[in-house]
Amino acid sequence: VSPPQRLLQPLAVPERLLLGPGPSNVPPRILAAGSRQLLGHMHPEVLQVMDEIKMGIQYAFQTQNQLTLAISGTGHCAMEAALLNLLEHGDTALMAVNGIWGQRAADIARRLGAHVHELLKPPGEYFTLWDIKEGLARHKPSVLFITHGESSTGVLQPLEGLGELCHWHGCLLLVDAVASLGGAPIFMDQQEIDVLYSGSQKVLNAPPGSAPISFSERAREKMLRRKTKPSSFYLDMGWLANYWGCDGEPRRYHHTAPINSFFSLREGLAMLAELGLESSWERHRANCAQLCQGLRDLGLELFVKEEKARLPTITTVRVPEGYDWKEITDFLMDNHAIEIAGGLGPSVGKVLRIGLMGCNSTSGNVDRVLRALRDALECCCRSRL
Ligand code: PMP
Repeated sequence: VSPPQRLLQPLAVPERLLLGPGPSNVPPRILAAGSRQLLGHMHPEVLQVMDEIKMGIQYAFQTQNQLTLAISGTGHCAMEAALLNLLEHGDTALMAVNGIWGQRAADIARRLGAHVHELLKPPGEYFTLWDIKEGLARHKPSVLFITHGESSTGVLQPLEGLGELCHWHGCLLLVDAVASLGGAPIFMDQQEIDVLYSGSQKVLNAPPGSAPISFSERAREKMLRRKTKPSSFYLDMGWLANYWGCDGEPRRYHHTAPINSFFSLREGLAMLAELGLESSWERHRANCAQLCQGLRDLGLELFVKEEKARLPTITTVRVPEGYDWKEITDFLMDNHAIEIAGGLGPSVGKVLRIGLMGCNSTSGNVDRVLRALRDALECCCRSRL
């Protein structure tokens, strides 16, 4: 095999404005952190960065949980880590499915040999406490999975009262906040969430590849009561807790951490801490409101009817009658170097998804994407006439 010609050319990375459901653009400060020289994964300076990440996650999640760390992997990896550490063969799990993430969680839990029940809602809707209560009473699960920011449909799931309800039914509450963390309020301890995870590449504006996660005392106790070891060595929370200094024991080598990803994540969390959670939530709320108004002014229909149920980080709009969603997303990419996305899973063909996350959530970007969309609606239509 000879050296591939393509590899002998320089790396090509064009400038794009990433306004899809993630990843979002990485600001220079975070890019710079990720390009720092390597240190060893057990060097005290790296362990200190890991401690700082842990504090940053505790702040972003609003939790005091000791078992708080970043998984070396993307959001899916954190989802797998949560499920495979919590569930044993034969456990019962209830998945709230109103988009693709509940479906994926159900798929993972089935692979683990759990009895999986699905609580269904049409895409674009959220679960009420009453829906959850009925599901818990009927299926008696040991774990409930629910998505805070349903990025395939643009729904923000209210979490108030859910943790209490789950605990009353002897169930743990597992929440996916990959698409919502930093963009919409969440209070892990106060809302009695047992396992919460997120990703690095959305509001935190770091490259994909590390995923914040935290476990409550209740979740930790369930893991300690396990009769069998978790099916993955890499994602075994016992090992990870030790490597992250969460168990009070001397830290042992488990895997070679993606050190530069941790540098980037550390800076993403630092920027969130500097801005403050309240300001970050407000920024996402205000820019999302401006976007929604602008989309309506273009004659487009928002997919999520109730304003309070709209995810401030990712807005879904119906594909307008007579248009092909792909033609619109391609037009924005080709003519404006802007990425927006079509639907995902149950929303494919139905919606366009526009993400405004972290540093990308600005009034200027709202204007830019609205101008580009106006252009697309004119040109894609004209090209068909
Ligand atoms: N959950 C949600 C709500 C997401 O939006 C995503 C990413 N789109 C994931 C999980 C999976 O994350 P990743 O792509 O980083 O594996």
